[in-house]
Amino acid sequence: MRSWGTQAETIASHEAEVKGSPLCQPDECKSCGACCGLYNYQDNSRVVLTERLRRGTECFAAFHSNPDRYRHEAAALEGPKLYETIYNCEFLGFIDEGHKRVGCLLHPQLNKGTDLRGISFYGADLCRQHLCPSHEKLTAIEKEVVIRLLDDWYLYGLCITDIDLIKSYLFNIQNAVGEEFNPAWLDTKPTLKKFMKEFFSWKEQWPFRRKEAFRFGKYYFLEEEYHIAHIDYRGLGLDPSPYDAIFLSFASEFRDKTEVSAAEEMVRKNIERVIALYLTG
Ligand code: SF4
Ligand code: SF4
Repeated sequence: MRSWGTQAETIASHEAEVKGSPLCQPDECKSCGACCGLYNYQDNSRVVLTERLRRGTECFAAFHSNPDRYRHEAAALEGPKLYETIYNCEFLGFIDEGHKRVGCLLHPQLNKGTDLRGISFYGADLCRQHLCPSHEKLTAIEKEVVIRLLDDWYLYGLCITDIDLIKSYLFNIQNAVGEEFNPAWLDTKPTLKKFMKEFFSWKEQWPFRRKEAFRFGKYYFLEEEYHIAHIDYRGLGLDPSPYDAIFLSFASEFRDKTEVSAAEEMVRKNIERVIALYLTG
């Protein structure tokens, strides 16, 4: 979580933040905290992360009077990590009363103008300046589509950091409609938006992901190293799926060819509906 205000605030405070980013804090409905270790837990379900953030934020209220107590209480909230060498920052919390936005509890906007990030594991400069690859790799349209579609921190952070998922999905749509996706249609075509939201919601709820696999999209973790997962289509008697990149992003693990067919049907139907709705006046 490198920048903090809403999109407008972030742009306005660009100089102050060195590399402010509307991608991290796009609006009042959501934000991302992925690079602060938000999802780096073996149980990174919405309910567990929400509770950890809520309790951490509550404890932080006493931080200024007793920093040691905060660290002690924050440590007690930790759970088994997915990837041991990624630091899960204890200063990530909810930064608004409604608990819609995750962010840095040490940020100056939460601490009467004083930047406390110097006490964090990464230090103030790194926290301020780091930008994840999505900033560079996603096009402006790809970013805008995800920002317009998703309106909660949990799903937004999962999806905005999944470059392959966003690009693969939009590639399939754009290829068929013959133009770059126009994000403005999402405001005027609610059914189009509904189906595209459904697709991204599979990043959270996907019937072919095995919980015990400890996957993070296409990445899995073994002996403190991360590896890129592969789906063994040949072993299932199949050719590689045209939706392979999407399936990997959803952390799919198929037991047999019937499951692959069912997954392809879900994705194909969604994409076909979206294309039809996009092309309808
Ligand atoms: S993972 Fe990327 S988008 Fe998310 S908070 Fe970090 S820098 Fe911002
Ligand atoms: S101090 Fe922690 S929560 Fe804040 S920006 Fe740095 S890593 Fe993220």
